[in-house]
Amino acid sequence: MDLLINRVERREIKPGDHIYTYRAAFIYSHHGIFVGENTVVHFTSSWISSDSSFYNSSLICSSYPDCGFRKPKSGVVRSCLDCFLRNESLYRYKYGVSPSVFFAHVRGGTCTTAKSDPPAEVIRRASYLLESGFGNYHLIQNNCEDSALYCKTGLLTLDKLGVGASGQVSSVFGAPLEAIFSSCPNLWMPSPVSRAVIKAAVKYSLDRYEADIGVRDDVMKVAVEDLAVKLGLDGRHHKEVADDTDASKRDFVAMNSERN
Ligand SMILES: [Zn+2]
Repeated sequence: MDLLINRVERREIKPGDHIYTYRAAFIYSHHGIFVGENTVVHFTSSWISSDSSFYNSSLICSSYPDCGFRKPKSGVVRSCLDCFLRNESLYRYKYGVSPSVFFAHVRGGTCTTAKSDPPAEVIRRASYLLESGFGNYHLIQNNCEDSALYCKTGLLTLDKLGVGASGQVSSVFGAPLEAIFSSCPNLWMPSPVSRAVIKAAVKYSLDRYEADIGVRDDVMKVAVEDLAVKLGLDGRHHKEVADDTDASKRDFVAMNSERN
C-alpha cells in the first residue's frame, strides 16, 4: 500500500523534498534530500559505497559532472537523481501525517508525524552536511533515513549514541511482514497462525510509532552548525559528548517544564 501512496514522478518533486528508493528487491530503502538541479544529497555507508555504481559514479555518470562528490572520509554524497535511483522507482517521504495515516502506512521508513521545516532550511542543512559529514554510518543508530529526517526537521534524538531517529531497522523487518500479508490473504481468517501474525504486526506498528521523532519526547532541535559537537565529530572525548548530551537533556527538561 505504501508503495502506491508515496510513489511520485520526477516532475512532482521539489527542492527540499525527502525522497527515497528501494534497493535489493525492496529489502531496504535508501533516502536522500533532493536539492534541485537534478541532484540528491544522501548519506551512504562504506558497504553501500563499495558498490561499484555508487563508488565509481563520478567515473560512469554521464549526466552530471560532479556526480558522486563527497569530502574525504565523509559518507555524505551528492549524486544525480539517476545514480541515486539506479532505474528504480521514486518515492517521497511524508511529513506531518496524523497518527491514523501513520498507522495506515504498513511499512516503516515512509512517513513521520513530525513537521518539515521550510525547503530553504532543509537544503541549507543538506549542503552543510555535504561539507561537514554526518558521523559514521550505522544501520540502526545513524543511517541515510536519519540524516534526511534531520535535514527536514532539525530534530536529533538525545540518545544519538543509542537508538537512531528513523527506526530504519523496523523498515527492514517491515518488508517481509508486508510481503506475508500481501501474499497470504487468508491470514485475515481466524486461526492461531493468523492471530500470531496480526499480533506481531500490531506490535511492530506500535513500536514504530513510539520510535517516530514526531512522537518521542527525547528529541530536540539542533542547529546544523552544532551538529558536529552533538554527534561527537569534533574530536572531543566521548565522555565530554556524553556530558554534553546530559546537559542537553537537562536543558530540554527545563525547557519543557517552563512550557507546561
Ligand atoms: Zn550520476
